[in-house]
Amino acid sequence: LFRTLPFVAQLNTQRSQLANASASVDLVSDFLRRDNKPFMVSGTVPFSRLNTGIRFVDVSFHYPGSTEAVLSEVTLDLPKGTTLALVGHSGAGKSTLADLLARFYDPSQGSIEIDGIDLRRLDVKSFRRRLGIVSQDTFLFNASVRNNIKYGSPEATDGEIIEAAKLANAYEFILRLPQGLDTPIGDRGVLLSGGQRQRLAIARALIQDPEILILDEATSALDTVSERLVQEAIDALSRDRTTLVIAHRLSTVRRADQIAVLEAGHVVEVGTHTELLGHNGPYAELHAIQFADHPADTNGASTDASL
Ligand code: ADP
Ligand code: MG
Repeated sequence: LFRTLPFVAQLNTQRSQLANASASVDLVSDFLRRDNKPFMVSGTVPFSRLNTGIRFVDVSFHYPGSTEAVLSEVTLDLPKGTTLALVGHSGAGKSTLADLLARFYDPSQGSIEIDGIDLRRLDVKSFRRRLGIVSQDTFLFNASVRNNIKYGSPEATDGEIIEAAKLANAYEFILRLPQGLDTPIGDRGVLLSGGQRQRLAIARALIQDPEILILDEATSALDTVSERLVQEAIDALSRDRTTLVIAHRLSTVRRADQIAVLEAGHVVEVGTHTELLGHNGPYAELHAIQFADHPADTNGASTDASL
């Protein structure tokens, strides 16, 4: 397992030595586009690890300057070490809920509790340092592959970078690039395919070794090989972590500990894949629309349905 590899222990030692010196970059806030996101007043309680889990308690939300409720009384439990998949049509509020967990916004009502502590009371920097986000728009910059992977973990060695790249199924394509790890990837990674960009983002997150993981799966179809490689990389990354995933792939949904179906900001169903199919309700309906017409999806291929 990745987490038992010696280099990770070494990396963690280095990281905790550096923690007080604030040497590590504030990953999440830096590489996500924050231009239109409000400034958050930090709490003071330092965060290092999760003990019991995350709870969304009666969370309602409307965007600043709008009165339209985007989330309404969302209550969800995400125990440590488990995976909660969010599914629902486009505009249902999935990404907004993930943004609240990253504390890009605060709930208008209700609260998000981390081990029973209101997220607003936590030191936002230390919390985000332990939060990994992999999404379609994970920020890649015009620098070498190496620097893109070690971004935010300046202490990472080449050995660690290669190890993470291998686990992320990225090492083979990196070796085929003209200058290997030294290859410049172009503005925002334009010289790479979508699947390659995702695997670099996953390698970066593996180096970061986050306690809590937010995954926003790509909706755009990848070719079958790319899809499998990305899925394997995501499996390596999310194993044993507390994961909130906005799921577009049947394989992700199936293996989630819980699935929450969002409809216009309301949680309308929560359960496992088998339980929810048995209910024959909203999930079964979504499932029929998104997955049933796509037999390839049983192997994890994504679709472009509106989920
Ligand atoms: P999903 O991820 O399920 O597709 P989102 O959370 O992105 O849904 O969006 C939920 C609703 O919030 C949509 O109606 C969307 O238009 C609206 N919305 C998303 N981002 C913003 C924003 N920055 N300002 C105002 N409204 C927004
Ligand atoms: Mg979304």
